[in-house]
Amino acid sequence: MLAADPKEARIAADFPILATTNSRGKRLVYLDSAASSQKPRAVIASLVDYYEHYNANIHRGVYEIAARATDAFEAARAKVARFVNAADTAEIIWTRNTTEAINLVSFSWGLANLGPGDAILTTQLEHHSNLVPWQLLAAKTGAQLRYIPADADGELVLDDLETLLDGVKLVALTHVSNTIGSIAPLDVIVPRAHAHGAVVLVDAAQSVPHMPVDVQALDVDFLAASGHKMCGPTGIGFLYGKRALLEAMPPFLTGGDMIKRVSYETTSFNELPWKFEAGTSNIADAIGLGAAVDYLSAIGMEWIRAHEIRLTAYALDALRGLEARGLHVYGTRDAARRGGVISFNFGDIHAHDLASILDTEGVCVRAGHHCTMPLMEKMGWPATARASFYLYTTEADVDALVRALDKAAGVFG
Ligand code: PLP
Repeated sequence: MLAADPKEARIAADFPILATTNSRGKRLVYLDSAASSQKPRAVIASLVDYYEHYNANIHRGVYEIAARATDAFEAARAKVARFVNAADTAEIIWTRNTTEAINLVSFSWGLANLGPGDAILTTQLEHHSNLVPWQLLAAKTGAQLRYIPADADGELVLDDLETLLDGVKLVALTHVSNTIGSIAPLDVIVPRAHAHGAVVLVDAAQSVPHMPVDVQALDVDFLAASGHKMCGPTGIGFLYGKRALLEAMPPFLTGGDMIKRVSYETTSFNELPWKFEAGTSNIADAIGLGAAVDYLSAIGMEWIRAHEIRLTAYALDALRGLEARGLHVYGTRDAARRGGVISFNFGDIHAHDLASILDTEGVCVRAGHHCTMPLMEKMGWPATARASFYLYTTEADVDALVRALDKAAGVFG
């Protein structure tokens, strides 16, 4: 058994919700961070501070609190840029979430650059948010949509990559699978995609919150992430894009803020990043995401990644004891090769029933298709239960999961 890191408990204490109990008096054991993370006090306080002390619209106001709001909003963008090591703060575009960031690329870059005879390459692992936009783009432009296959552990099979890349203009893939936790070998795929002249978009919804991500080192062209999965508020996310690509792209949404000059005849567009930020932005939540980035940076992304590997190894080991009773865990057993996401089924118990029983014990897991219906169908899983970890998850949480699963086996046994 691995020794627990005392930092675990100190971090958990930063999250007020983790000290709450359910209506049965059971401690909240939150194992659904892949869906959305909990928020530390510092992030909640930053929202309250904005609304109580300097709530005002940004960019146009000359009075003091408007200037303060503008500064905080743009400072948050700079924090995100540093967090993912963007070369330029203007390469960070605020969006509502990962989904909107991917749609921005699909509508703006995609419609301008794809046509019949071109191809888009994605993978069999994708969340619907990084699949449906490409299906629609392919239908609109006449481009072909292809898939890199995944094996039974959810690892990408790259044997035919060269053939698959032929004629491809865009490779769009998830960094870490939200269903099975596998990690895409971007160091192999990105250079090969570039050698074929393709641009690469990475869905980093499950990586940016959990591990160091350096967009320059990865050499990705676009990267999308959601604030709510990285200790930030809901309703804010971002798109990273290389400046030259963003400069060449037409606007996505149009209206206020994204303009430089408007006449009755025509409009010229604002500079980056504002060219892609039409209408009043989500000011409070961008500032809140800046606070989340400060919080994560202070703890250290290397520590968070190491913590999740250790905890995943601990969980895989602890769950092994239930395998003889019908528990089936999916994905590689090598914790260092996966994110902190464990999908499983238990005998004949439907994943939803399993999640409901775990809920009575205060253990929150997700059950269903995890927005990856094609992957579920390929794997032959009607549904799975999924436990997912974050920096505040402790070994005691994993122990509670194992105890609750043991109870479920008793109920259905
Ligand atoms: N991509 C992946 C891999 C995800 O896990 C998720 C959310 O679970 C998304 C995209 C969509 O994120 P959002 O709903 O925040 O846009």
